[in-house]
Amino acid sequence: MFKPMKTSLMAIIVGAVILSTSIVLWLTQEEHEELFLSSIKGHFSSLARNLRSELQPFMETRPMNFAEMEEELSSLVAYEAIEYASIYDDDYNELVFFQGARYDSQKTFPLLEASKPWELGSTQIDGHMVTFERIGPQNFPIGYLVLVNDITQPIVRSKRSLLWQSLPLIIVALVSILLVSFLLINRLLRPLYTLSKFTQEVSESKDYALRYEASHHNEFGKLGDNINSLMDTIEVELTINHEQNQTLIEQQQTMTRLANFDSLTGLPNRQFVMDNLRLELARARRADEDLVLMFFDLDGFKGINDSLGHETGDLILIEVASRVTTLLREGDLVARLGGDEFIILPDRDTSDASVRNMANRVISAFSEPFQLRGLSLTVGVSIGIARATDAGYELSQLMSNADLAMYRSKANGRGTYTIFTLDMVDSHKRKLSIANSIDQSIKHDEFIVYYQPKVDKHGLIIAFEALIRWQHPEFGMIMPSEFIPIAERGGKITSITKWMIEQVAKEMPTIQSLLKRRFRVSVNLSGHDLRHSGLFDMIHDIFDRHMVNPEYIEFEVTESAYLENFALSNKFFRRVGNMGCAISLDDFGTGYSSLSYLTQISIDTLKIDRQFIRELETSERSRLVTGTIIDLAKRLSLTICAEGIENHNQWDYLLEHGCDHVQGYLFSEPVPLDSLPFLPTRFHRRALKSE
Ligand code: C2E
Ligand code: MG
Ligand code: MG
Repeated sequence: MFKPMKTSLMAIIVGAVILSTSIVLWLTQEEHEELFLSSIKGHFSSLARNLRSELQPFMETRPMNFAEMEEELSSLVAYEAIEYASIYDDDYNELVFFQGARYDSQKTFPLLEASKPWELGSTQIDGHMVTFERIGPQNFPIGYLVLVNDITQPIVRSKRSLLWQSLPLIIVALVSILLVSFLLINRLLRPLYTLSKFTQEVSESKDYALRYEASHHNEFGKLGDNINSLMDTIEVELTINHEQNQTLIEQQQTMTRLANFDSLTGLPNRQFVMDNLRLELARARRADEDLVLMFFDLDGFKGINDSLGHETGDLILIEVASRVTTLLREGDLVARLGGDEFIILPDRDTSDASVRNMANRVISAFSEPFQLRGLSLTVGVSIGIARATDAGYELSQLMSNADLAMYRSKANGRGTYTIFTLDMVDSHKRKLSIANSIDQSIKHDEFIVYYQPKVDKHGLIIAFEALIRWQHPEFGMIMPSEFIPIAERGGKITSITKWMIEQVAKEMPTIQSLLKRRFRVSVNLSGHDLRHSGLFDMIHDIFDRHMVNPEYIEFEVTESAYLENFALSNKFFRRVGNMGCAISLDDFGTGYSSLSYLTQISIDTLKIDRQFIRELETSERSRLVTGTIIDLAKRLSLTICAEGIENHNQWDYLLEHGCDHVQGYLFSEPVPLDSLPFLPTRFHRRALKSE
């Protein structure tokens, strides 16, 4: 409970004033009594002395004049306080007695009788003043006079009168003192009230810039100064706190941005999209709705990165993000998962038509070449689409399904989209099983090299393409088109390439013994091999161990594999070229076809893709492309080889257009080493025609 200090102070002051006034009053009364008594004493002494002188003549006459003596005593009636008076002779026999108005025979007389003999002069005895005077000279006293006065009542009366006289003064003094004290206390405490009001204002307004205006040079002034310096400290601390808070908020925002957004493209990142997807899947499951996830990556992005540098790659990613973002409707989400992988989460509409429409729009967004740093680059996109219902609303399953569908798109020739179907899982399982048994199969020698001859214009076998086969214990013969991509993704391709080169090196003497002239055996390399820095040393070591003449070897690499690893490929092929190996660009015409790079790479042969040869008879465009490629190769002084020759017309056409080498089922399918002796050493056009 709040108890004002003013009240307490006033109570103390009132108490102190009353106490001191009472003490002063009491002392005054005591002093007054003292003075009053001594005045009474003097008064009665002189009265007694006067009376003694008056009486002396009447007592000296003989006989004594009693009448006069009584007369004298009766004059005492005028003195109210006199109780009685007596005249004694020199033997203390009472001669005359006077009884005053206050005489009380019960109280006064016995008391005075008990006090005899009295001393000369005035003596105070129990409320009475007894004046005892000798009449006559000291040596011959003739009698004595006794005057007894009541002093109690006069004293009381006198004291009372004194009190009544001083009371107004006392009251005035008391009131003045209290008033002055009140004013003084008020005045003294005023700064304290102001301070209290100030602190309350600060605590209510939370405005720590306020300051107390200290105008007093006392303790309150000091307190005000101290409060002000406390406010300074609080203000400084608040500013520091505010700044720290601001920094923390900014850091928090940066952290959130870094944690949830891709710094390059500004798109949400994997973390963000995964969290979002988890929530969306839960929501879709509850609402019994479907949800579609579109996963895509860029075709040939790695090649661009390697050949044109990461900065160009980054610019492409930024442009991709911007192109895809403009396609989206409100509510759709696009995010970058990392590398060249992106994800699109279309909003509610999950109908097949809507999904296909969006996939087509994404693909068409890539049809325009990317204009970057003066270059016009074509980048494709492979899309995989999966549905939450197929994945049982499981995030990892959904991602894996979309991934599976995307790889199906890549396998189907890129620039396409695939919607996941459950049968893909079976094929996925087969792929997994294949991927998991590669290491074992190398150990168990389950791979076999098949050779397919290449013939020159005269039908002479001038080379063999070594093509791998896998005699799988469970799946039977597996073709490279199935297991090579799996091995590439599973990081097993280098072991296969090593096995292949080693096997070719081992079988080389047998082939040499069969053919007895210069030929080359071509070995296919994967793009992944080219990224492996130890590839050259590995080949060199194998050639050394098996004493293979590098001039008998050719390496085939697809143009996309070459260009996706441009710098490394160039270096590698220059080294193997210097060693004597030939280099052939496989499946030419299907990949980049930007042609300008042809002058920058070290190759010997262009292999026209089978697709053009197949369509030679039916498609004018294929004839045109084939003719142009042959022409181009000639201009660049490159050997030209066509693969997939299945009939005479195709061979005729190629020969007419000056194709150097041909390869195809028309001559022979790929065959194992032990079937090579059964191949004719020369194929005759006419003979073939007549077959
Ligand atoms: P490729 O290097 O373009 O090989 C030519 C493919 O065309 C071979 O298929 C061959 O059997 C086939 N072929 C040749 N002539 C004809 C024809 O007249 N008609 C038809 N329909 N096909 C013909 P294969 O052996 O199935 O190999 C497929 C691909 O697998 C190869 O294409 C090559 O890219 C890859 N490959 C094969 N062996 C290896 C290997 O040891 N290492 C690597 N990295 N890849 C390999
Ligand atoms: Mg090949
Ligand atoms: Mg080929």
